[in-house]
Amino acid sequence: MIPRENPYRVELEKLIDPVHAFALSHYLDANGIRVHLSDPPLRCALGEIPYLEAPLTLFLDDPDQMQAARRLIRRFREGPGPVRGVIWRCAHCGEEHEPEFGSCWNCDTPRP
Ligand SMILES: [Zn+2]
Repeated sequence: MIPRENPYRVELEKLIDPVHAFALSHYLDANGIRVHLSDPPLRCALGEIPYLEAPLTLFLDDPDQMQAARRLIRRFREGPGPVRGVIWRCAHCGEEHEPEFGSCWNCDTPRP
């Protein structure tokens, strides 16, 4: 499926880890930032590189949201700040999670 190009969209980041990429795009979306991820490159479909090693590109649909998006990405990576709820850490793999997640997105261990 080829998404219709938005001429105003800007590239935010290239993300190697698809789990991280989806978590980040979900986080931005939940905070009112309109983003989308590129499809995996065709090279994956052709089997030239493994799906899990293909970088995904995160696009910002509205360039006016760039500053807010960058702020949220920083918060997403650095962990707690003035956020509602408690960021929790997976007891099994140590991954950090936003309050709204009930289990680890990395290893599926339920929230402690
Ligand atoms: Zn985990």
